[in-house]
Amino acid sequence: MTDPRELYQQVILEHNKKPRNFGKLDPCTHHAHGLNPLCGDDIEVSLVVADGLVQEVRFQGHGCAISQASSSLMTVNVKGKTVEEAETMIAQFREMIRGNLDPAADPHILGRLTLFQGVKDLPSRVKCAVLPWATLHSALQGEETVSTE
Ligand code: ZN
Repeated sequence: MTDPRELYQQVILEHNKKPRNFGKLDPCTHHAHGLNPLCGDDIEVSLVVADGLVQEVRFQGHGCAISQASSSLMTVNVKGKTVEEAETMIAQFREMIRGNLDPAADPHILGRLTLFQGVKDLPSRVKCAVLPWATLHSALQGEETVSTE
């Protein structure tokens, strides 16, 4: 359990099998569709934002275990946060996955999301892990579609 790689595997499998906040919010205030053509990941993120807070967030779609688990964990971590905090998490998650943010040394608000830091050593999976965050960013910016290509 103390081996971060083992914990990472467990969390990915668990969230892939039982994704949290799966579905679509209707009505919603923000919505976006994200595609990663390289892997075939296809997700939709919908949000209810009120008073500057992410009151509800859900995702649906299909794709590999990493994109599904990343989406699931994203919804868990972003729900109840301010829009500003959500944007900070988006930026920090991207930097971590690109290897520009070291969760052990640099300040961050990623919490358990640091489990994904190993993805930086798996270049073909980077877009899978980042897709839900890119889609969330588009939704918050009022854009409808995002592609990792
Ligand atoms: Zn994928």
